[in-house]
Amino acid sequence: MSEANDCIFCKIIKGKVDTEFLVKNKNLAVFEDIKPKAPVHYLIVSREHIETLDDIQNENRELLGDMILTGKKMAEKLNIQGNYKLVFNVGERGGQEVFHIHLHLLGGWK
Ligand code: AMP
Repeated sequence: MSEANDCIFCKIIKGKVDTEFLVKNKNLAVFEDIKPKAPVHYLIVSREHIETLDDIQNENRELLGDMILTGKKMAEKLNIQGNYKLVFNVGERGGQEVFHIHLHLLGGWK
């Protein structure tokens, strides 16, 4: 599984940064966004270092499915089901800051 030495999300996933994981499985890990953009803001992060959604191949279908289903299940667990966003930012002009694929789970608005 590929990883990058200078990637903050690789460091988090490898346990090099003190982080609370809500979910960790063979495909992904979930942790809170350090600068939340909504009352609820979690990141669903691939364990493998894949830079962007544009790099996704057929072989990554299971990963993508797991990321989206995890987002849905987390929304239920956090009681925001029916009112949330799952967002991939892609590329610099698409608002991506961390080049390690992740899905934002945003919600909790009143
Ligand atoms: P994006 O702009 O889609 O690449 O999203 C990257 C997200 O990662 C931003 O919302 C950041 O606040 C968040 N982030 C950056 N560094 C960390 C970190 N060390 N722990 C948790 N979230 C982070």
